[in-house]
Amino acid sequence: GKARGCHKIRGAQIRDLLDSKHNILFDCDGVIWNGEIVVAGAPEVVTLLKQQGKRVFFVTNNCTRPRENYVQKFSRLGFTDVAEEEIFSSAYCSAAYLRDVAKVQGKVFVIGCHGVQKELQDAGVPTVEDVSDAPDVSIYNFPLEPDVKAVLVGYDERFTFMKLAKACCYLRNSECLFLATDPDPWHPLRGGRITPGSGSLTAALETASSRKATVIGKPSRFMYECIASQFDLDPERSLMIGDRLETDILFGANCGLDTMLTLTGVSTLEEAQEYRDSEAPEKKDFVPDYVVDTIGDFLEALED
Ligand code: PLP
Ligand code: CA
Repeated sequence: GKARGCHKIRGAQIRDLLDSKHNILFDCDGVIWNGEIVVAGAPEVVTLLKQQGKRVFFVTNNCTRPRENYVQKFSRLGFTDVAEEEIFSSAYCSAAYLRDVAKVQGKVFVIGCHGVQKELQDAGVPTVEDVSDAPDVSIYNFPLEPDVKAVLVGYDERFTFMKLAKACCYLRNSECLFLATDPDPWHPLRGGRITPGSGSLTAALETASSRKATVIGKPSRFMYECIASQFDLDPERSLMIGDRLETDILFGANCGLDTMLTLTGVSTLEEAQEYRDSEAPEKKDFVPDYVVDTIGDFLEALED
């Protein structure tokens, strides 16, 4: 990849950068909110960008909510002008992949929560019914569904050994697709806690099946292609803003976009500089072009 600078920018430099872009792609958690706490100034920034004729997209690896619930969350946190069509989640894009790319003819076995189930349902992709097993059902006698053509793994707070066992049985069939919503290892919670991410569940299933999942979410290009199939996007005039170097910034690099790290989330400036200063060429795509403390810093650049 190209040499990226990791330039800390502010004020007029932010204004010049935004002036040169038409499409702003925001990661959500760690960029515009942290859990239920909005990043100060983020709603005003989105409104101002739109008033200045920019197109704004939200690109999240969080598969727990269907699109309509994101609209509610945006509104709850004070965003007044975010539409469902602007929200691209790993659950929505996984459903689009199964329907439009894989054109899967059969059922999908899902490890995942409501967001994934609902997006598949909305896309008309049939799933194996998620009924809790009777007490006498075990890994030795569960009924194998004959028509499972894909396994999709995402964040699942009800992940069990039983689900893992079923999924790896379906994956014995080499014609059964193996997809993961996203590769995220973990996510910060409040009070010093973290939660394991979809990537940790996918890793368990990769080991159990001796297969590798196709990843739909960032850093895979597919989420960008999903947006580009619905909106006319010029990569040169698009900016990806994220808080995690290994997903968001690599995603931007994979899609040929300029990238910006914001320091309100997971990754630090020191980590970005370590990637920049590393000898390994494959680390270069983790280096953002630009760094800001917070997207709240856009406010003074956008107002005049
Ligand atoms: N997946 C889950 C389950 C999460 O809780 C989060 C963040 O809270 C994410 C993914 C990452 O979301 P994003 O890509 O918006 O940072
Ligand atoms: Ca994030």
